[in-house]
Amino acid sequence: MSHLDALQAIVGEQHVLTGQDAQASLTDWRERYSGQALALVRPGSTEEVAAVVRLCAQHRIPIVPQGGNTGLCGGATPDQSGSAIVLSLLRLNAVRSMDLDNDTMEVEAGCVLQSIQQAARDADRLFPLSLAAEGSCTIGGNLATNAGGTQVLRYGNMRELTLGLEVVTAEGEIWHGLRGLRKDNTGYDLRDLYIGSEGTLGIITAATLKLYPLPVAQCTALLAFASIEDAITMLTHARRTLAAALTGFELMAGDCLADVVRCFPQQRLPFEGASAQLPWYALLELSDSESEAHARERFEAVVSEAIESGHVLDAVVAESMAQSKALWHLRESIPLAEKESGKSIKHDVSIPVSRMAAFVEDTNAALQQAFPGIRHVIFGHLGDGNLHYNVARGALGEDELLALQDAVYELVHQHVHAVGGSISAEHGVGQLKRDVLPRYKDPVEIALMHRIKAALDPDGIMNPGKVLTLP
Ligand code: FAD
Ligand code: ZN
Repeated sequence: MSHLDALQAIVGEQHVLTGQDAQASLTDWRERYSGQALALVRPGSTEEVAAVVRLCAQHRIPIVPQGGNTGLCGGATPDQSGSAIVLSLLRLNAVRSMDLDNDTMEVEAGCVLQSIQQAARDADRLFPLSLAAEGSCTIGGNLATNAGGTQVLRYGNMRELTLGLEVVTAEGEIWHGLRGLRKDNTGYDLRDLYIGSEGTLGIITAATLKLYPLPVAQCTALLAFASIEDAITMLTHARRTLAAALTGFELMAGDCLADVVRCFPQQRLPFEGASAQLPWYALLELSDSESEAHARERFEAVVSEAIESGHVLDAVVAESMAQSKALWHLRESIPLAEKESGKSIKHDVSIPVSRMAAFVEDTNAALQQAFPGIRHVIFGHLGDGNLHYNVARGALGEDELLALQDAVYELVHQHVHAVGGSISAEHGVGQLKRDVLPRYKDPVEIALMHRIKAALDPDGIMNPGKVLTLP
């Protein structure tokens, strides 16, 4: 029996796709990576995933797990050899159960993030993970990349929102680790090992997630700043005065918002005159558990104090849910406007907040000196010390920019490293940062990662060539 016949016998003929039918799964969202595959295989249950993995292990067929294919590091794209299968989890899309007394829900890996948020809301609960790709990314992909997004400041990243996992190991066993426990000190934490492993250790098929109370009221404002230092002063002030009620603080360069308004003319910046021309803006969000009136009073007090102190030059406080959505829509449209504007060089870095202003100033200056004419596209989750410090072509042609890519990466990564930062805050490593990772990580740490990989994936079939270089 051929490999394709054997795969069809497990998942059904209509779920083994080749040629044109598999094409969309072979290129990443940014259209930076493209590969070939034996087939796109779409199992319908954990048992089918396990049977596919056993078949692949027996024949040493590499497996590239894929969820919504929105990842930004090429992690879900196969190489050019055509020897791998792409294994889509999209058919495993059931919310299996909710335990409201325990504040948990059990979901399958292929559930789209937005459908999980909705299922939680329908049960009068909050599942807080939120990011611009939430309409198409899957919880399996969120787990595999330990995704972050806009609510990490209050609720933590994917790892902190997860209590248990079900995993198909690289040898095709099923690990039933779907525990709904907030405390469990019974040995090594395999859950945290699989979270963030980008499909290189096994396949996540289901998870037990934490749920939170839905906020009673939320307030949103867009704040305008003369400098990044002022934005950081505001963050510190908001943290101190709002404490756990502070649920969002998103920094955006004025240029990013100008791009959004240019690419999507139905959107508009709610400022006029000089306030519409400032270098930095931030979206501030408060979530309150008491009442609308309580939320508003607290929020307006914090914003007015900041304006009086001079750190915030202007502010627009959303008066309705529709206005709040419009403000968030501006923020969420930045990556889309960036994509519309052509290829760019993306950095997803984290830096201690205390060193952020100096990092941006020094790195901007060094980039302009080394590559005159490039354009900075800077936004991100300031509250987490996470910037999307991107570089666009500006006065250069697209090919000219791409020719500079490695040199730009190196310059930025060296500046990040010098201030004790990380070259990947939330997007992962994939193939994009695989080769440079050893330059910025402790050699012992890299060696231990190779040993873990060899122990959990002895045949080297799980997403080979991602995160770590091939042995
Ligand atoms: P995919 O792209 O399909 O896969 C990503 C990686 O996970 C690959 O290595 C793949 O092999 C592996 N994988 C997928 N499913 C499984 C599984 N079930 N088991 C094992 N491995 C698996 N990310 C953030 O963290 N924060 C953001 O704010 C954010 N904003 C974004 C905005 C836009 C517009 C876009 C396009 C992306 C954004 N991302 C962000 C990146 C991306 O959406 C997230 O990384 C997301 O978690 C990926 O989910 P996915 O289902 O699309 O995964
Ligand atoms: Zn982000």
